[in-house]
Amino acid sequence: MTVRIGLGGVWQETNTFTPEPTTLADFRRYQLFEGPELVASLRGTGTELGGAIDAARQRSARPVGLLFGAALPAGMVLSHAFESMLRRLVANARAQLPLDGLVLSLHGAMVVEGHPDPEAEIVTALRAVVGDIPIGATLDYHANVGAALPKITDILVGYRTYPHVDMAERGAEAMTAVLRLLRPSRAGRRPARHLEKLPLLTVPPAQEDVAEPMRSILDATERLREEPGVWAASALPGFAYAESGRLGFAVYLAAETHAAPRARELAAHVWRERDAFSARLASPADAVAAVAATRGLGPTVLVDVADNVGGGSPGDGTALLHALDQAGVSGAVAVIWDPASVAVAHARSADRMELWVGGHSDPAMGPPFRASGPVRRFGPVSYLRTGSYMRGQRVEMGRVAVIEASIGTIVLTENRVVPFDDDHLRALGIAPRAASAIVAKGAIAWKAAFAGYAARTVYVRTPGYCPAALDQLDYRSRPAPLYPLERNPAWEDAVAAGLRS
Ligand SMILES: [Zn+2]
Repeated sequence: MTVRIGLGGVWQETNTFTPEPTTLADFRRYQLFEGPELVASLRGTGTELGGAIDAARQRSARPVGLLFGAALPAGMVLSHAFESMLRRLVANARAQLPLDGLVLSLHGAMVVEGHPDPEAEIVTALRAVVGDIPIGATLDYHANVGAALPKITDILVGYRTYPHVDMAERGAEAMTAVLRLLRPSRAGRRPARHLEKLPLLTVPPAQEDVAEPMRSILDATERLREEPGVWAASALPGFAYAESGRLGFAVYLAAETHAAPRARELAAHVWRERDAFSARLASPADAVAAVAATRGLGPTVLVDVADNVGGGSPGDGTALLHALDQAGVSGAVAVIWDPASVAVAHARSADRMELWVGGHSDPAMGPPFRASGPVRRFGPVSYLRTGSYMRGQRVEMGRVAVIEASIGTIVLTENRVVPFDDDHLRALGIAPRAASAIVAKGAIAWKAAFAGYAARTVYVRTPGYCPAALDQLDYRSRPAPLYPLERNPAWEDAVAAGLRS
């Protein structure tokens, strides 16, 4: 009889500092699939469930679509949005019984009003319906994992890359582990799971996979995975902007034996590196001064760290546009989320226009930037990602207006666009490779788009909801103490001693 594995999940990296909540419409706009449409839409894509579907088919198992909803990072998810998706996910699972296993795509840093641990709640609700079958789940590198999730799942598989490019492989790994647990020889035996939570906060610009300290931490995790009897091992730096009781770095291990001491050893490694998680930033003026030095060699990527769209900031901050203007730079490319300016541009037919660009979400993120020049208009633009991030995924940019201003090409979009590929620019006939500078509203993930041809990278201290300096954030209910916000030498020694023993 064919083994049937249910697929589903609800996925978002929530930024609790962003005032705008995440609604059900935001999930519908990005990704919301149910039943057979889930499998048809995600098969062959570079997503977690895409990888899981391929792995199931290779092993003659049947993937059964339940419900998968994903939204771009934004503010806290409204409870009714989460509850209505969870209700349908559970109802679809009930309608498909009996299932032999589940593979779920969860983010791990979703924050829902009134639901303190939404990912654990999803698994608990499904477990009540599907019974004692293997449940595997994938987690983002930025997951803030709580204590419950490792206990109620059989296997957790975290991304190992940042920029994230290994989603399909991790989905395949979760599927393979679930199918392995179904072998008659295992007779319901499961590996032991252990989560070691570190009281450590880190910021995205310091979490890149090929840079220290993460490189050596990921190498150590890889060595653990190669040990006999180890099913899964993850080092998950977490997401500092998703405030919840689960904030902080986590180390996870699933192994036949000695899961706890092995996880503690890896956690001790992370703890010893805690001072290496700091980000170096330039002022906007110093950053734009660097553009002239690389002219002719390729674009300088000006990383607008705090207005990271992929981290839940609005993407309409103007600090770098003003700095480019003041320095007299031309030939730059910038993408700004600005539905109001798009509407203004589309309402008129003039070849040249003056638009007040960006700066609408929060006065702290810079005043609107006056751009004047030739305008091109595009009807709703949709493109397929062809790069290493979620390849094959369709993205809707909404209507677009492109204005050629003195500083260069400014792309105004109706929907927020994350710079995880350069397809969004090439879809408009723009060649970012030829730009003098690229304003990238991201921390590290933009490297999947532009790193191949960037001549230089400058991380800039800008205003926004994803600052690299944690003291810019006004936390209300986070756990404490958390390094580096609290320095408590006696306590730090105690933690270190505990991890060593
Ligand atoms: Zn992430």
